[in-house]
Amino acid sequence: MLIDQHARKHTYLRISLTERCNLRCTYCMPEEGIQLRDKKEFMSQEETIQLAKTFVDLGVTKIRLTGGEPLIKKNFRELLQELAKLPVEISITTNGILLDVYFDDLKDAGVKGLNISLDSLIEEKVNRISRRNYFSRIQKNIDEALKRGFNVKLNCVLMKDENDDEILDFIELSKEKILVFVSLNLCLLMEINGIGLKPYLINPFLKK
Ligand code: SF4
Repeated sequence: MLIDQHARKHTYLRISLTERCNLRCTYCMPEEGIQLRDKKEFMSQEETIQLAKTFVDLGVTKIRLTGGEPLIKKNFRELLQELAKLPVEISITTNGILLDVYFDDLKDAGVKGLNISLDSLIEEKVNRISRRNYFSRIQKNIDEALKRGFNVKLNCVLMKDENDDEILDFIELSKEKILVFVSLNLCLLMEINGIGLKPYLINPFLKK
């Protein structure tokens, strides 16, 4: 069991599968992308599985796969299949673009939770913030994920004069089966009121 110095038990592990991403969100990456590190610096598939097994043996019951964008990892399918053999709940944080490629694999692996990054509900804005044109594919994939019974959570980074005018639309959306997390872009946040700001959560269970 993993217990820290404050006697807290830790049962949740996040594994970042890659630093690569197929988007270039303005608050995350430069337009030209980042200087990628040598592959040798990253864990192989075998090492990733072994590490996960070790943590499961130590009491981890939930593993979240993240990136960069985890679904662009070449061996994502194989990795997922191996992780699915462990007695853990697996969830994914993704930008949603490649979900249509992996829906069946995710279901087969018992994945229930999908955290999908979406900073706006307006196509032009999403494409501008992400510097790519995938809005309609992401939107279709969110609809499909809901149809297939995944628990969908949207992660939205709220930015002053960019998407802060959509906060009510996200609240409205949170009444319909989708959990919406809104986090504030801290750099821009200071411009809003100059004092400590906290990420906050809009709860869909507000639905009457
Ligand atoms: S989708 Fe996530 S990892 Fe990719 S550029 Fe945007 S914020 Fe960064």
